[in-house]
Amino acid sequence: MRDVVIVGGGPVGTMLACVLAVGGLDVEVLEQRAQPSLRSRAIGIHPPSLRALAAIGVADALLERAVRIRAGEVRSDGRKLGQLSFERAAPGYPFVVALPQYETEALLRARFDELRPGRYRSGVTMTGVRDRGDAVAVSTDSGPIEARYVIGADGGRSRVREAAGIAWRQLGRSETYLMGDFVDTAPTSTHPGAVLYFERGGVVESFPLPDGRRRWVAMTDFLATDADSADLAALIRHRTGVRVVEPLGAASAFAVQQRLARRMHSKSLRVPGRPMSGPRDAGRIVLVGDAAHEISPIGGQGMNLGWLDAVALAPALQRALLDPAAAASVLATYDRTRRSAGRRAALQAGFNMNMGRPAHGARLRARNAVVRSLTLPPANEVVARAFTMRWL
Ligand SMILES: Cc1cc2nc3c(=O)[nH]c(=O)nc-3n(C[C@H](O)[C@H](O)[C@H](O)COP(=O)(O)OP(=O)(O)OC[C@H]3O[C@@H](n4cnc5c(N)ncnc54)[C@H](O)[C@@H]3O)c2cc1C
Repeated sequence: MRDVVIVGGGPVGTMLACVLAVGGLDVEVLEQRAQPSLRSRAIGIHPPSLRALAAIGVADALLERAVRIRAGEVRSDGRKLGQLSFERAAPGYPFVVALPQYETEALLRARFDELRPGRYRSGVTMTGVRDRGDAVAVSTDSGPIEARYVIGADGGRSRVREAAGIAWRQLGRSETYLMGDFVDTAPTSTHPGAVLYFERGGVVESFPLPDGRRRWVAMTDFLATDADSADLAALIRHRTGVRVVEPLGAASAFAVQQRLARRMHSKSLRVPGRPMSGPRDAGRIVLVGDAAHEISPIGGQGMNLGWLDAVALAPALQRALLDPAAAASVLATYDRTRRSAGRRAALQAGFNMNMGRPAHGARLRARNAVVRSLTLPPANEVVARAFTMRWL
């Protein structure tokens, strides 16, 4: 029987696997995809995550590939409203870095493979999970497995969460965006880093990526699934006046919604005829990452938040395995602190989305005044802290 089986080998499941392996636990990851995804969803990686990546020996390789973003600029109507510096973001990491998610995932998988060769099992789908009280039985399309704890790191549509009977609560309304990568034409000498364009028709964001690329994201009125890179380029030009050239790959439309699980672990079961091996309130199924909270990508927090879940969960699991009597209290602390971090991240993302909505006349002027004041002392330090996730 394994100490821990992690369902889902995305960025959060694989990070947790590395942290647990470094801590000496017997851990296995089940990933339904036979081949890695090439979707570049998350790009922004914040200082607290860089510290966590350093602790598992991945930061150096990641920093070698990633682009360092030291500042963000806010523009409207062709003018600069303000600038935020990340220089004082964290000792050792005075920047946010950008790297496509598939590259980050590949680095994490490679590290876990070094730590536990053969324990990242691609092409294995979890089909059912049952907390028996003293262990968890996992069914997969390649046969059954047992573990002391099972972690649902299986994303927003988590089957683990469903099987554990944990409800899912929607926060706020949904928004739609169109996203694509283009050749970065900004001159190196005056490179603006990240740029947010708060325009009348809705926000447009742009971020540098490695290999001379730039990611562009524009808010849209509807889910523009038929739109292509030329449509995105035209929208960017229309709203901001910036002419983007040479699309790299297809544009993609996405809708964001924010959701939070009601609990981050299952409740323990009382099995008839069998004495409880652990305390009453702590089940053996625990959620991390998007399985527990889906946060709007606007502000780039979801993957980072999941990684910080992993950092908090690893010592809790170690303690629960060593001392079953402590399981209820350590998992309750995990549940309380990480759901509270999830709520804060959702609030911040909600604020970001709100600021980015279409605005005209007095509302536009008021919004620009708020943005200006947020980029000036003393507010700018607090905003930089929030944007570099030092409070999550
Ligand atoms: C457009 C976009 C941009 C984003 N930008 C950012 C950003 O800049 N910064 C940031 O922090 N976040 C960002 N995010 C959010 C980020 O992508 C997610 O928060 C992150 O992918 C969550 O990781 P995860 O490992 O929890 O879940 P996932 O990435 O969804 O991984 C879950 C894994 O579980 C596997 N799985 C599912 N079911 C099963 C099963 N039954 N059996 C076995 N395996 C299973 C899946 O195949 C998948 O590999 C962005 C999201 C989007 C859509």
